[in-house]
Amino acid sequence: MIRHFQKERISVKEIKVVRNEQLKTKPDGDSLGFGKYFTDHMLVMDYSAEQGWHEPMIVPYGPITLDPSAMVFHYGQEVFEGMKAYKTADGHVCLFRPDANMHRLNQSSERISIPEVDEELLLEGIIALVREDQDWIPDGAESSLYIRPFIIATEPGLGVRAARQYKLMVIMSPSGSYYPEGIHPVSIFVENQYVRAVRGGTGTAKTAGNYASGIKAQEIAQKQGYSQVLWLDGVEKKYIEEVGSMNVFFKISGEIVTPELSGSILAGITRDSVIRLLQSWGHQVTERKISVEELFEASRAGTLEEAFGTGTAAVISPIGKMKWDTEEITISGGHTGEISKKLYDTITGIQKGVLEDPFGWRK
Ligand code: PMP
Repeated sequence: MIRHFQKERISVKEIKVVRNEQLKTKPDGDSLGFGKYFTDHMLVMDYSAEQGWHEPMIVPYGPITLDPSAMVFHYGQEVFEGMKAYKTADGHVCLFRPDANMHRLNQSSERISIPEVDEELLLEGIIALVREDQDWIPDGAESSLYIRPFIIATEPGLGVRAARQYKLMVIMSPSGSYYPEGIHPVSIFVENQYVRAVRGGTGTAKTAGNYASGIKAQEIAQKQGYSQVLWLDGVEKKYIEEVGSMNVFFKISGEIVTPELSGSILAGITRDSVIRLLQSWGHQVTERKISVEELFEASRAGTLEEAFGTGTAAVISPIGKMKWDTEEITISGGHTGEISKKLYDTITGIQKGVLEDPFGWRK
């Protein structure tokens, strides 16, 4: 694996800014949706084996030119992150646990043999970019500016090996509320045929291939009227791993359980925040293997009290229905459970600066 460290840290003052002369018209707050519009600027930084990561720059948002043989197109050497900037009630701009995203980006890169970046430098660059485009942060109560850092292998050539040239980019997209009509439960399809990841594979990394391989199952589930797929382990197809692009929690007989980080699950930052919040409220949270059979058994016995997914996009996504094979269960009477609601209100309250931030998550 190639692993090059920055020899001398570049200070944020050295991040060159090339301002966009033609600022775009900002979209209407009601039509934002997710990932449709992009701000006026982006952060770019290149890597070469000789120079390491060098010359971070904020430049006008726009297309880039790549050689058709750029290695990312052929073998998928890519990693990405997803995080958000919020406007607080008093008009300040803040990020939520951005250091955790920087760290996870490097952990993903390590798995895909992409050279690691200076986490502090990248965060400073992202803060500078958000500052540059802060007028793009939507005002709406539950809207935010979605930030997508990613790295691609740009070296031309078809040999299968780690590239020696990369491009890091950070693009930003104003996003509307995930729940324009208030938080509501989703229905889930337990996937029996396809798997998302196996131990020793790339499931713990945020890399494009994991998402490409999940699209087929997602399409099949949606055709049957379910909005997300619940992924089972890749060997026995017995244990619950994740739901769509979210981690998953259940309340069974008063105890909150979530799949342990087994080596094929993405370690969600929302997952970690949820565990810490629940523990601070006095709940017992157990990270362990949970079989889908155990879950359906609990539902039949009336002890499955709540289920919800956790992730940056939706924060908390209550699960109202779940279909496995021929059986469909309803959870919390198909309504949003008490814990899901409290977690959603607390995390969004901390993000928006409406609530105290006891863990120092707002940056
Ligand atoms: N699992 C997968 C596969 C994901 O893509 C995401 C979204 N990043 C998550 C879980 C949730 O992670 P986070 O809470 O950090 O957004």
